[in-house]
Amino acid sequence: MLIAELELPWLFNSSRCEVKKTTRNYLDETLFAHFCLNCHQVFLARFDWVNAGMAQRWQGEYYSCPVCGEAAADEWDTKRYYRSTVGNVERPGIPVPRSMLIRLQEFKKHLRLTVDAPCIAFDEQYPENVNYYRVVEIFHFDIENQRTYFKQTGWPGGSETKEISLPYDSTLTQYSVLRFLRRNSRAWRERKPQVTAFLKKLRETVCRKLYEVKGYRMKAVSVPGTKETGLMVNPIRNLMWRLACPDGPNLKELFSFRSWTGMSNFITRDLLADVMDGCLAGKSYPQAVLQAVGLPDTKSGRRMIAGKPIYALAAAKMLAPVMLNEQGRKAVYDSLMNRWEKWLCHSVVSTWGVGRVFPCEKGMAFFQTAVREIGQSRALALITQLPTDELNDAAEQYEELTPAEQLTVWKNAGSAKKIHDTCVELHWRHKHPYYNLDVPEPIINRLMMQKESLRFYLPKTYHELHAAGEELRNCVGGSYPARMKAGKLCIVLVADDTGKLKVCIELQGDKIVQAKLFRNRPVYEDPVMFDRVKAWAKERKLKIATDDLIRPEKKEPLPQAM
Ligand SMILES: [Zn+2]
Repeated sequence: MLIAELELPWLFNSSRCEVKKTTRNYLDETLFAHFCLNCHQVFLARFDWVNAGMAQRWQGEYYSCPVCGEAAADEWDTKRYYRSTVGNVERPGIPVPRSMLIRLQEFKKHLRLTVDAPCIAFDEQYPENVNYYRVVEIFHFDIENQRTYFKQTGWPGGSETKEISLPYDSTLTQYSVLRFLRRNSRAWRERKPQVTAFLKKLRETVCRKLYEVKGYRMKAVSVPGTKETGLMVNPIRNLMWRLACPDGPNLKELFSFRSWTGMSNFITRDLLADVMDGCLAGKSYPQAVLQAVGLPDTKSGRRMIAGKPIYALAAAKMLAPVMLNEQGRKAVYDSLMNRWEKWLCHSVVSTWGVGRVFPCEKGMAFFQTAVREIGQSRALALITQLPTDELNDAAEQYEELTPAEQLTVWKNAGSAKKIHDTCVELHWRHKHPYYNLDVPEPIINRLMMQKESLRFYLPKTYHELHAAGEELRNCVGGSYPARMKAGKLCIVLVADDTGKLKVCIELQGDKIVQAKLFRNRPVYEDPVMFDRVKAWAKERKLKIATDDLIRPEKKEPLPQAM
């Protein structure tokens, strides 16, 4: 029984295919074979919109079919119209539809969607010639078994009947003529409401049929088309997925072309296939997900997945390898989902974007180690409080430590931040061998001083000096240790009675050449330190050769107006 029919008398005004391309001058050497759909003539011409810096400009002769004069593009609007109605083919030999007749038929236990598309394909050898094909595509929605099959005939590259139920299947995006029903098509501009209405009918029919045959109620299966794959490919792909998993989520968040690349690290082809198999075997979607990722099938587990968007699958998968109790799982899951909603929901997901938002595999493994070493409740902070890149970073560094050093991390574990810092610090020490600065005893004795609550002292080792640089946020840990060891300079640190560093002083011989507070601020900014350091310098007979120890003259305030 025929349920719906959609006729698209025009796909494009013209089709074109690049003929010649030299890498030296792509813009000027671009030659296209054009096929005018009005008079069915092929001609070669060199015109297009080209990118010129930030702008676009028209290049070449204006477009007008030399035979019938169709779509002359000498006006701005006509040029835009030209661009929005030309069918680009990636290479010769690929059939581009001229028109389409799409029909939906209903049978007892299946639905059939037929796409009948007269096509042209530019000849691979002589692009000024075209070959005519009549491509026919049949989508077979097997409602009883909840699977979808596809067959394409009418041209040499067609395909036999095969199953395309899995969302990762690229048949539709690569081969189906429906992919030409995209934004730069005349059909999109002129027939979008009809296409939308047809898709609605298709959705309704699949839903109704699934209820009639299997008793499953399926709701809200509508997703928008995309720029890259056109009006119909994505909605149909989603429909196939939902047919297999009627209570599952739509795929819209994932199936924008670019975001899929980012998500494929987390939602792999195999994972989706496992979920789909579970659903086809009669499990509910949440149960199928829990089984596929390897989480226990519990009530709260199902609640985590049910009714949630597709990325809940990614969160569940990340969570699965970590041994946690129910409460811990919930906490980690919520944290991952929050990140997703906060950072990725409203934008395209690129690979690096996902990398910044979710812990990597190593990060999760590190978290698992933390759970084992310091217990779940303390380890949870690593996920819920530490920025993801710091967790990944700590994991990376931790991996390279010796077992003894790794133990130190957990012995000193305080806050999540502290765990990260310890990993970084230990890793640095691991990579930078320890050495003594070997400052001669007389110099040490001359410069050291304990007065009131302040201690003036010299670091003894490379690592000690490096740590001082970290604490004071300056670069004293960089090239200074080697020069200090060589006797070229001397660093004196000033700490208060709690051990907190206050000042860092550089001496060359008996000259003070630098005296800095936190973040390299000059000592004169702190009046107390200023007086103490000056007193120390005077007592130890050191010369001052830096502005840091000279208080800038204060300008007299202007007399107030009477
Ligand atoms: Zn023409």
